Amino acid sequence: SPELARAEALIREIANYPSPGILFRDITPLLGDAGALRATVDALIEPFNGSFDVVAGLEARGFLLASAAAYASGTGLMPIRKAGKLPRPAASVGYKLEYGTAEVEAHDDFAPGTRVLLIDDVLATGGTLAAAHELVERLGYVAAGTSVLFEIDGLGGRETVADASLHTVFRS
Ligand code: 5GP
Repeated sequence: SPELARAEALIREIANYPSPGILFRDITPLLGDAGALRATVDALIEPFNGSFDVVAGLEARGFLLASAAAYASGTGLMPIRKAGKLPRPAASVGYKLEYGTAEVEAHDDFAPGTRVLLIDDVLATGGTLAAAHELVERLGYVAAGTSVLFEIDGLGGRETVADASLHTVFRS
């Protein structure tokens, strides 16, 4: 659609951020445009309509999209947070970063078997979303799908996430 094409053009490339050699995709211009934001959120949920009970967003940029996606689809929102932010995490899953490690955590406020659609802004190596998948399963929920605004090719993210339902709106 023309709105989606415009949305793609609103993803800004920032060279050497946050470290030398990295080409960072900055989605704030897209978020700031009413038509682009709506078309993007619609495109994120469209393949999964009716097949999920809750939308999970990855801290922090994933929150921005997941919240809108939950509202648009009439479901609830599950924040998946970095370690140490939640008052009573029910599960934590660690994963490797380029330098060091990180952890994702969530509460267990949904019924066992709840179908969770995972949303994030960018898929790079896939470590974050793979950990989020494991977290969802460890909490007794079902991963209903994975939807990402922008997929960076060549970093093995798609293989690491290993979800046949993985849907990405834009890719490089
Ligand atoms: P991964 O775990 O796939 O290597 O990295 C994905 C996570 O890092 C996502 O939560 C995403 O927000 C962040 N990320 C990695 N690269 C970029 C980028 O170029 N732009 C943005 N906006 N986020 C990125």
